[in-house]
Amino acid sequence: MSTGPSHDQPAKRPARTGARSGSPGKKPVRDALGPYRTGYPAAVERLIDELAGLPGVGRRSAERLALFLVKSEQTKAQALASAIAQVKATVRNCAVCYHLTEDRVCKVCADETRDRSLIMVVEQPRDLLALEAAGVFKGVYHVLLGRISPLDGVGPTDLTIPALLDRARSPQENFEGVRVREIVLGLNPTLEGDGTALFLADQLQRITSLRVSRLARGLPTGGQLELANKAVLTDAIEGRREV
Ligand SMILES: [Zn+2]
Repeated sequence: MSTGPSHDQPAKRPARTGARSGSPGKKPVRDALGPYRTGYPAAVERLIDELAGLPGVGRRSAERLALFLVKSEQTKAQALASAIAQVKATVRNCAVCYHLTEDRVCKVCADETRDRSLIMVVEQPRDLLALEAAGVFKGVYHVLLGRISPLDGVGPTDLTIPALLDRARSPQENFEGVRVREIVLGLNPTLEGDGTALFLADQLQRITSLRVSRLARGLPTGGQLELANKAVLTDAIEGRREV
């Protein structure tokens, strides 16, 4: 009889301490948020929910932002609301390259001095802007609006890949009916970026008249060999060229 309880007790204690040490950082945060969250008026709750749905904004940040807006001046909060409304009403994707624009076609596509037979494929508008800031690329772009990511359920048709293939295949799908001569794959050198580039290269190389290239990679200007990691050095060696 006495062996029963004495066996149970030691067995329970490690289980409890194990559960506590399993989530030492997160549990107190959830516990602390719980009672506050339920106590907010419904409108504040709704604002927190909306803000928490934004990328990179956690529940706690959303709560902080919502409370900031609640106590901020009417004009300040209205300015934010109207900026959001305006961006939704006026900004759209370029009908040709999917860059952001307030017109049907973006400024780069509309620029007659650009080489419309040369297309650089990038993931996001910010990549396009970075390349434009460098001011060395004279072709036009195609923005994928993401990259293929099987783990996140993002496939080729979730991006603007079908439109890119149409542009590459038939001149009438490209701006001003110009036949595409070369496509430069300007995706980020990440696992997903490389996977997307590989998929695109496979699809695009079936179009025989097309030249497909990718951006060089390797040592950054101003960098030092001894500080470069193995992947960077491998890329630099493989991408070497004659001087
Ligand atoms: Zn465009």
